[in-house]
Amino acid sequence: MRYVSTRGSAPVLSFEEALLTGLARDGGLYVPETIPTLGTDELREMATMSYEDVAFRVMKPFVGDTFSDDEFKALIAKAYAGFNHTVRAPLVQLEQGHFLLELFHGPTLAFKDFAMQLIGHMFQAVLSRKGERVTIVGATSGDTGSAAIEAFRGLDNVDVFILFPHGRVSEVQRRQMTTPSESNVHALALDGDFDDCQARLKDMFNDHDFRDGVQLAGVNSINWGRVLAQVVYYFTAGLAMGALDRKVSFTVPTGNFGDIFAGYIAREMGLPIADLVVATNQNDILHRCLTTGGYHKGEVHASISPSMDIQVSSNFERALYFAYGQDSDAINALMGDLAKGGFDVGDNALRDLQNTYKSGRVSEEETRETIKTFYADTNELLCPHSAIGVRVGAALRDPATPMITLATAHPAKFPDAVEAATGQRPPLPDHMADLFDREERVTRVPNDLEALKDIIKGGIAQ
Ligand SMILES: *Cc1c(COP(=O)(O)O)cnc(C)c1O
Repeated sequence: MRYVSTRGSAPVLSFEEALLTGLARDGGLYVPETIPTLGTDELREMATMSYEDVAFRVMKPFVGDTFSDDEFKALIAKAYAGFNHTVRAPLVQLEQGHFLLELFHGPTLAFKDFAMQLIGHMFQAVLSRKGERVTIVGATSGDTGSAAIEAFRGLDNVDVFILFPHGRVSEVQRRQMTTPSESNVHALALDGDFDDCQARLKDMFNDHDFRDGVQLAGVNSINWGRVLAQVVYYFTAGLAMGALDRKVSFTVPTGNFGDIFAGYIAREMGLPIADLVVATNQNDILHRCLTTGGYHKGEVHASISPSMDIQVSSNFERALYFAYGQDSDAINALMGDLAKGGFDVGDNALRDLQNTYKSGRVSEEETRETIKTFYADTNELLCPHSAIGVRVGAALRDPATPMITLATAHPAKFPDAVEAATGQRPPLPDHMADLFDREERVTRVPNDLEALKDIIKGGIAQ
């Protein structure tokens, strides 16, 4: 399998190269040249397999010969061994026809562990084979950073630097990033919002001298390996809900568009999916774009669902690339306009996007109300992101088609918002019970590229 950039001029890469590269050198994102499909017989076999076996089947064609079959199976087994649930991604029924896919049983209590744990093991395998070392720099609105640090802490071939917006992540998220004591872990609190973190990260990747000098590698959801690992749970959930006999739909709380885009890949691979529904919070650029075609940057307003407080949704570029029929010239033009403030999607591409994705937006008040009502009705607590999904999923679902809403984080990761809505403070699971007693280690950094480059060069193990 070969990977091409959405902007068309970066080198074509293998899976291994795309994994280590992250952002393409032309500023684009890597996508598979073709999307392999799975036939009905294969899907039928997969319906009774373990999560790990489905993961191998789904990802193998994309990974090609980067790993032998046995090595790849061993990496998958290691990635999910630390999850707190035997089926990894269990389904829970919410109401007639509506189901919750719990993706928060990994070590940092958010769905990002599914991809990050796996690519941590993949990086380690590839780098130790090549005898190379990389510097991973990531930007986070909270959950990517904690998942990346958990996956890469203590690895020999990697330094990991995580940029998070100072004062804009939850205390649990911050402590998950600042309390690991391994010397290869560096938590950087940036004076700015998440879009600033993401913009500085892109600047570092586009500074080719710096990029090559420190062997920069990215694990944000721009990394194809992240998207790929997330395709797997669409299959396990869809097949468990009988997708071979009738289509199923998914609703996905969305920020950077990585998770929902994985659903698009699952559908293209042959999983019978009816609707893919994008659920946004008050930072609703994706909902507005899918409704009107206009994609214009606004201010980010901090919300109680901080992992979705995003105006520039990086993976949306991949969705646009496919909506424009893999036309990289069109993507270059749109991204040029985005740098100046925004763009309008062309009529044909908009029709294609609207056929592919539905969308809904949830206000702060509605988010709180959903957490509260859900608790009153079921005695269960929802994290604010999952609540946004549940509300949109309930509103847009067709009664004849099972709706599977993705629960992206554990309520204990956002205890203040959950307590404010319900009066109940969700306890941390046992393995994290001492999080508030551990010592924090963090560097406050300005929103300035040169200063950041110096801090990173100074922090790398020699
Ligand atoms: C990252 C995150 C999201 C958004 O996922 P994207 O792939 O960026 O769309 C939603 N909810 C939670 C809890 C997250 O951590």
